[in-house]
Amino acid sequence: MKDRSIIHLDMDAFFASVEQLDNPEYRGKPVIVGGTPEGRGVVSAASYEARKFGVFSAMSAARARQLCPGGIFVRGNMDRYVEVSHQIGSIFDSFTPLVEPLSLDEAFLDVTGCLKLFGDAETIARKIKDQILEETGLVASVGISHNKFLAKLASDMDKPDGFVVIPKGKEKEILAGLPVGRLWGVGKKCDAVLAGAGVKTVANLLAYSPTALEILIGTERAAHLRALAVGQDDRPVIPDTSAKSIGNEVTFAEDISDSDELKHVIANLADKVAWRLRRSDLQCKTITLKARFADFTTNTRAKSLPEPTDSTVEIRDVAWDLFDTKLKRGGRSIRLVGVAVSGFSDQAIQGNLFQDKDKEEDKKIDRVMDKLAEKYGRGTLKRGR
Ligand SMILES: [Mg+2]
Repeated sequence: MKDRSIIHLDMDAFFASVEQLDNPEYRGKPVIVGGTPEGRGVVSAASYEARKFGVFSAMSAARARQLCPGGIFVRGNMDRYVEVSHQIGSIFDSFTPLVEPLSLDEAFLDVTGCLKLFGDAETIARKIKDQILEETGLVASVGISHNKFLAKLASDMDKPDGFVVIPKGKEKEILAGLPVGRLWGVGKKCDAVLAGAGVKTVANLLAYSPTALEILIGTERAAHLRALAVGQDDRPVIPDTSAKSIGNEVTFAEDISDSDELKHVIANLADKVAWRLRRSDLQCKTITLKARFADFTTNTRAKSLPEPTDSTVEIRDVAWDLFDTKLKRGGRSIRLVGVAVSGFSDQAIQGNLFQDKDKEEDKKIDRVMDKLAEKYGRGTLKRGR
């Protein structure tokens, strides 16, 4: 199998960190999300300050209160966490279509195919980590390796604010000393059975007779664990294909009111979105423009096309038209703008034989631009307006 470059990103104490971000008075303090101060409910996240008291997620709030009586207990705001999660997801998506979310705050990215475009896996991961901090104010821990198991292991090795690479050749050394429970798929029961046989570390597992191991935990599981124990894991990164839309948005450091400047930004967003469509072999029928004004009200305007498209120019033109004629901004300045597409169809089932000439020309340009971007990086060349 060809070597892959896998990044695992995991937000540090996600829910609690969002609370600390939104409520500056919580910063540096033990924040416990998910319980009431009266001690009802279950902890769904604890800030690092609370973890020092021994408070962890899935613990009863009553127990958390015993351990950390001075803790700030908040019910939590799932809508807000989902919103931030989407923001982070759109950063991932701007680097690769191969993103597999594991939860609101964790995802695998396969960046093997984008190395030419954005640099090596470490450079890409650093960019993503920096961009997350810049755009959301939150800290992610990063793990990088040549498969999912090792990447996830790596992201957990130096939390919080971790950035760990497990290079090929180093995995056995790193794995050997780990408790066997760290191997993916070893639950409490399996862990207990192995411990009963004296198999406590990964090194113990490898030293154990393969036949005896099969008898102990079954042939399949034994083979699976022996592979992981030497750092082998062939599971692919499976993108979330249930995605119903693809979009990119930017929040400006300072609100913008100049129409030309805004349209320039919209053109770049359309280009990113169209590129993601082409990379995923998808075409869209609906284009949506979103704008959040300085007063925080948000307008969303959409238009559907008669034929599906993946063309940068077509998507840009519709987005511009929505901006010019439908947005009703009335001179208000804008703090966030986004372009999204939906109503997908596969390229394969789309068979329009009579494309008009301009469209054919646009398609050619898109293909050339994509090729150039692969060679020289995206954004080095801009098409004319
Ligand atoms: Mg996390």
